[in-house]
Formats: sequence, structure tokens, C-alpha cells
Amino acid sequence: MKNINCAEILCVGTEILIGDIVNTNAAYISQRLASMGINQYHQGVVGDNPERLKGFLKGAFERADAVILTGGLGPTYDDLTKETVAELLGFKLELHKPSFDRLKEYFDSRKIVMTENNVKQAYMPAGGIVLQNNCGTAPGVIMVNEEMGKTAILLPGPPREMKPMFEESVVPYLLSRTDSILVSKNINIIGMGESSVENEIIDIMKNSLNPTVAPYALDGEVRLRVTAKGKEVDECEEIIDKMIERLRGTAIGKYIYGIDTTPEKALVETLLENNMKIAVAESCTGGLVTGKLTSVSGASGVLDGSIVSYANEIKAKLLNVDEDILNTKGAVSEECALQMAEGVRRLMGADVGLSITGIAGPTGGTPEKPVGTVFVAVSTKDGSECERLTIRNNGREYIRTVSVKNAIMLALKNVRKN
Ligand code: ATP
Repeated sequence: MKNINCAEILCVGTEILIGDIVNTNAAYISQRLASMGINQYHQGVVGDNPERLKGFLKGAFERADAVILTGGLGPTYDDLTKETVAELLGFKLELHKPSFDRLKEYFDSRKIVMTENNVKQAYMPAGGIVLQNNCGTAPGVIMVNEEMGKTAILLPGPPREMKPMFEESVVPYLLSRTDSILVSKNINIIGMGESSVENEIIDIMKNSLNPTVAPYALDGEVRLRVTAKGKEVDECEEIIDKMIERLRGTAIGKYIYGIDTTPEKALVETLLENNMKIAVAESCTGGLVTGKLTSVSGASGVLDGSIVSYANEIKAKLLNVDEDILNTKGAVSEECALQMAEGVRRLMGADVGLSITGIAGPTGGTPEKPVGTVFVAVSTKDGSECERLTIRNNGREYIRTVSVKNAIMLALKNVRKN
């Protein structure tokens, strides 16, 4: 039977089209297809309308080897996916005894009368591969028209039914009809924007087909996704690792802080390796840095504690920030950030003190210190360092998220110097 190299996803349901529900099925299946090395170039949503469904399917079958559909398998009159696909691929529906027995048992055990509509769910394309639904009533089905070289895989709409069916039945089926897999690793970069990263490595990106290299931006960070196609995981990983080494040798190398990691994970791991403890003093982020650090397993081995010093009195009283500095330079200043970092380090007897103070907005900005002005500082026994960040005013949450990343990265840089 012909391999499935290219598939399309088609989700059926008017409620998706009008935005009542988010199409999580497509996101889930897309990721799984990518991990199996099956290409996907188009994807669609159609309402519960057989003519439009047929129209999309005709196009999809011209472009792809397989179409994976979700939704429209239920018992109601507008659930027409099965009938429509069967007609297009030349299958006749007939009562599928095992599915009928399962349905009957389901209804009998709940003392619900089985209506004719329900029986409709047990009608299956003769010659199709029926996929048992262990979490609901509507079975899925695979129809293959060998002459046309086309396959349709029909799955129920509810994600809690679709996902187990996909994992239990569809993944093994697809793997039996593909001969390659895709493996990806993400290179984590901070301190360089997406377009600068792309600019530095554009030739590599354009010329490398296996692996492919693609950048994407997150708040305050850039990731390069390196994806290799091959027959075995080891083979793909070797291809990826070679590319990572090559990229480390370019101008972006010094901005790479890890592979498949996060700033907080990298910091916790580095502190653990160096047997060091950190203490944190936060103002505008209100504990978010600490939240990030404690989200990493192993944080208890490196985090002494933290102080959310929102009020100036607390900065002065607990962290020993000079009242003079608070009055003359302000709480959002390099001097204050440095004293907060040193203060919290001494207070907790930690190796590293990390601090953050800034204006997250929307109010509080001034011409000298507009919204998005944030100072992050780090203090160790060997000295202190402060960075002034000027973060784009994309809203309070954005400013806080980017501040957290930068604070953690500053600490990481200092611990790695150690
Ligand atoms: P049912 O037997 O429940 O009717 P079905 O296979 O006919 O199942 P639909 O009627 O199309 O599926 O959808 C049922 C529910 O499943 C929807 O109301 C929605 O909550 C969820 N659902 C359907 N499609 C999707 C999708 N693409 N992404 C996320 N949820 C979905």
C-alpha cells in the first residue's frame, strides 16, 4: 500500500467555524503528524454541511495522501462525515455487528433506550478499518481506496475521545504506512532578536534541508527549532547535534543559553552544579521570578528564599536600601536594584542575590523612566552588576514576563562566570 507522506486535517463542526470552540484537535493532530514525519501543507474547518465537506475533501485528496477528519460522527441528523466520505471513496455503509453490540451494551447498562439515531453510529463502511471508541459511543474508521491511493481517517470530535483513539489506533496505523520520523530540538537564545538571529544564519537556514532550521520568537527570547528527518531517532539526533555545533560556531553562539531548556531550568541546574544558593528580592514582578525558579524540580536545593519588597519601607527595612537613594534616585533606579540584590544576599546568607525593580505600567512612567524601564541586578561576593532594560510597552504582563526572563538570565550569566 502507498506510503502516507502528506496528510491534511479537516475538522468538521459549525461551532468551530463560528468560534464557539477552539480547534484543539487540529493542534494536537498536527503535532503528532510532525513527530511522525508526515508532512502537512493545508488544514481546514468546515461546518456541518455535506456539500462543503465534499468540496474540501475533493481538493484535499488531490493534494494529500490522507485526510484525517474529526467530528460529525455522532448520532444526530447533522453528523454526516461518515456518509459523505464513504460516498466519495466508494464505500457502502452496513451494520457493523461488533459496534452495534458495544453500543447496545452501553445503552442497556445505563438503562437508556437506544434510538434509531444511535444505531446509525454502528453503520460502518464495508471494508473499512473500524476503530473502537473506549471513551464514548461513536467508533472511528479508516477508509482506504487503493485505486485512488487515498486514505481517510475519521475520528470523533470530543478531544477526550479523539486523543485516546488517535494514540491507540491511528499512530500505529500511520507508522505502518510511513518510513521516516521527524525529531526536533530547540536551541534557546536570549539577548538577540529574531531578525538578527535570522540575519546571522540565513545561509545555513536556506541551504540546509535536513535538518531544517527555523527561528521563532517568544516573549523576550528566540528559539531555533532544528528538525531532522530519518529512519531512527539516533540517526536524527546525530544530524541535529552536528547542526547545533555548527550554529554554536556562528555569531549567535554566545547568545545560546541551552538546548530544550528554559532560563529558570538552566539557572537552577547551573546553581546545583556549582553548589550555590540564590536569594531573590522582587518589586514590580511581585514574586514571579521566585515562582519560575520554584517551578523547576530541584529548586529547593538552590533557593534560600525571596522577599517581595513592593513598598519603599520594606526595601529600606528588610533589604537595607538607603532612604537617601529611595528619595533621590527613586525605587526604580540602578542604585536601588544593586542595594536590593546585595541586601537580600546578605540577609539570607546566599551566594547570589538577584533583584528586580521597574515600571510595569500602564501608569507610573516619566520621560526619564518610561513604562518598561526595569533594573535587574545581581550581587555575589565578588561584586555586583546591574542592567537597565527598556522593554517595549506591550502591556503590564508582557513587561513583567520579559523582566523575569532577563533577571534570570543575568543571574545565569554571573553564575556561569563563577
Ligand atoms: P458526538 O457523539 O459528541 O456528537 P461527534 O464526533 O459528532 O461526537 P461533534 O458533534 O462534531 O463530534 O463534536 C462534539 C464536541 O466535541 C463539540 O461540541 C466540541 O466540544 C468537541 N469538539 C469537536 N471538534 C473539536 C475540535 N476540532 N477541537 C476541539 N473540540 C472539538
